[in-house]
Amino acid sequence: MIIQKSDNPRIGSFDPENYSFGDHFIDHMIICEYENGQWGEPKLMPYGPLPFSPANMAFNYGQACFEGMKAYKDKNGDVFLFRPEKNFERINKSATRLAMPEVPEEAFMQGLKVLIDADRDWVPHGEGKSLYIRPLIFATEEALKARISTKYMFAIVASPAKSYYSAPVSVKISDYYSRASSGGVGFAKAAGNYAASFYPTKLANEEGYEQIIWTDDATHENFEESGTMNVFVRINDTIYTPATSDKILDGVTRDSFIQLAKKRGIEVVVGDVKVKDVIAAHERGELKEVWGVGTAVVTSVFEAIGYKDKKYDLPKLSAEESYALTLQRDLVAIQTNNAEDPFGWRV
Ligand code: PMP
Repeated sequence: MIIQKSDNPRIGSFDPENYSFGDHFIDHMIICEYENGQWGEPKLMPYGPLPFSPANMAFNYGQACFEGMKAYKDKNGDVFLFRPEKNFERINKSATRLAMPEVPEEAFMQGLKVLIDADRDWVPHGEGKSLYIRPLIFATEEALKARISTKYMFAIVASPAKSYYSAPVSVKISDYYSRASSGGVGFAKAAGNYAASFYPTKLANEEGYEQIIWTDDATHENFEESGTMNVFVRINDTIYTPATSDKILDGVTRDSFIQLAKKRGIEVVVGDVKVKDVIAAHERGELKEVWGVGTAVVTSVFEAIGYKDKKYDLPKLSAEESYALTLQRDLVAIQTNNAEDPFGWRV
């Protein structure tokens, strides 16, 4: 790997007590370029803008996908990644679906380790704090031709992230818009999936909801995901989550929650989660919790779900009663090296 360290590190002017997530970038980034059918040598270099023409194919035809993952610092100052091989596998599934070249394992894994090692001081320590890492691949060929690009860039950038705590939110079950379609790209972390979700989310915001529960495009009768998270429903003491498919992102947090729940002896059912069953459970008083999971906040607790013109309030459970918050604590303890790691998830 080519190593080019920054002459003007900005870490000294970064205030770890006062920052907002996603606006500050660590001193370095990784880039690796693809052309003539092969990837070049990855390079660590100072973080900064790169010049691209407006005719860049990623901007015009949307060949772009990314990952989201975190590094955590424990009380001794050691830094850990969490299940990075899952993100490596997923970025290549996304790339393949978008007709982009797969990134070599060496470039992805070494790139992560070299970058985080160079910018260790940027990994915040403390309650809920972490470094959010964004690997991405995008087309770079300068051509106005609607075809597969011949040039790409793989990059890794990172930004300090804040506390996990997010206030409970109200979510609207979609009965018109969908995030993904059968045979489409929903399972991929394609940049365009996010672009397509913003408008329906804006409409839900205007109705007073923070997020959408996405339903299947054919019938809108089945839960799929929530915002940019996978979704869990608890009816009595059983938790339900939709099976992954070509319409659902195979979330690392979702998979970890399923394994942690099973370890605690909680019954987990992976399969169809029907809107009518969730509403019926609410009417019987058996709907205990609905929540979203993802790397960014780990758990987003829902206080109410809207469907058609009705709003259904969910019970307020204590941190001990809540399966969502219990599993979040279990997961965070492993991520931050505050608990044994029986699954071998820390790297
Ligand atoms: N679904 C979507 C659409 C997402 O963007 C994310 C965030 N990556 C997730 C689910 C959660 O995935 P993970 O737990 O791997 O962050």
